[in-house]
Amino acid sequence: MSKLALFGGPRAVSSDYREIFAWPIVNAEMESAVLEVLRNGNMSGSNLTRQFERAFADWHGRTYGLGCNNGTASLHCAMFGLKIGPGDEIICPSITYWASCLPVYSLGGTVVFADIDPKTLCLDPDDIEARISKHTKAILVVHYCGRPADMDRITAVARKHKLAVIEDVSHAHGALYKGRLVGTFGAAAGFSLMSGKSFAIGEAGIMLTDSQEVYERAAAFGFYERSGELTLPELKAGAGLPWGGYKYRMHQMSSAVGLVQLKKYPAEMAEIDRAMNYFFDRLEGTPGIRSFRPKGEPGSTMGGWYNPMVGYVPEELGGLSVTRFCQSLLAEGFKTSPGCNSALHLHPLFNTVDVYGHGRPTRIANSDRDLRQPPGTLPVSEGLQSRVFKAPWFKRFDTKAIDEIVTAIKKSAENYRELLADDPGNPEIMGGAGLTQLVR
Ligand SMILES: *Cc1c(COP(=O)(O)O)cnc(C)c1O
Repeated sequence: MSKLALFGGPRAVSSDYREIFAWPIVNAEMESAVLEVLRNGNMSGSNLTRQFERAFADWHGRTYGLGCNNGTASLHCAMFGLKIGPGDEIICPSITYWASCLPVYSLGGTVVFADIDPKTLCLDPDDIEARISKHTKAILVVHYCGRPADMDRITAVARKHKLAVIEDVSHAHGALYKGRLVGTFGAAAGFSLMSGKSFAIGEAGIMLTDSQEVYERAAAFGFYERSGELTLPELKAGAGLPWGGYKYRMHQMSSAVGLVQLKKYPAEMAEIDRAMNYFFDRLEGTPGIRSFRPKGEPGSTMGGWYNPMVGYVPEELGGLSVTRFCQSLLAEGFKTSPGCNSALHLHPLFNTVDVYGHGRPTRIANSDRDLRQPPGTLPVSEGLQSRVFKAPWFKRFDTKAIDEIVTAIKKSAENYRELLADDPGNPEIMGGAGLTQLVR
């Protein structure tokens, strides 16, 4: 009989490990903090948000924090704060959540995508320079799935071409790049703090910056209640109403949860890090299997390991598709899925859609050239989907559970030949996040 559960062998994963994946971890202090906000009729106030902003900014050693109602808003604020406007371009990876770049449309700006480095899944520093034009204003860096981007080289490119760096830290709260927290490298950083992320406090986000101008512009953009604080003459002259026409204030239930979460996050991160590193250490040397962690890069860490992925190399497993490989993992009892998001540049919203009625696609509505990027232009981003599958995101260090999942993966890799016969191959679209229609 085969060893693989798919063919009637014993399942590698024997138990239901819901407990070790449960997230966020809610404690009594959080519960009473929320109740206090409710009972005080203080949901739309700002006192707790101010405390949370100060504490979150202090954690990063940054001067200003601006609590927002979500991460998308924090990135919109960062872009407006840095004066990105009509015709301006930002350079952003094509493998990311849409909110890293889409807010730029409503500022009249646009996005040019750069490819990712297959070893880090973050912006490839070698692919940035060729994407720079006279309209480029900023490099939007995403520390994807907790992995710090190569900030030394990205910062060097930015400095050489006098571009701002905006960090999207929605996946990497608390991650270190060579000993320094991510979110401290850019002129501004935006963080999602929504409940699926590693620093999870509800629908919330925060922007960090050391620049008074960036902070005040962002406040003027979407926080009418802060207009009394504006000091820059050009902002004061129009103060009172939000310049963007947006209202981005953070909900105080989230601020209250955030103040508690700041206290317990370091210990949670440490336990996740221990579990995830144990998992990938055990997989080391397994044919076809890789990790994206910054191993051998002193001082760099993965923070809370948001949405971790396992690298998959079909060439080492006789060309077996990741889809077939995952069928075996599922049969072994490991709940995973093949692939990841499709590349953003292939979606109609970056090719054909005219959002604001300019009479041309919004992507190029204010551009002096056609900067759209057809299929084939960002090969690593376009091919990544067939080279990854979802890793277990352990929140607790439980060696029995981890070992069982490791066994499921090793067993499937070692017996890959048995899986080749009925390999259906990969479907055309493998990821979610709204990327279900692609330009081909
Ligand atoms: C989640 C996420 C955002 C947006 O944050 P929201 O809080 O959902 O608005 C931005 N960028 C990335 C990379 C994300 O994953």
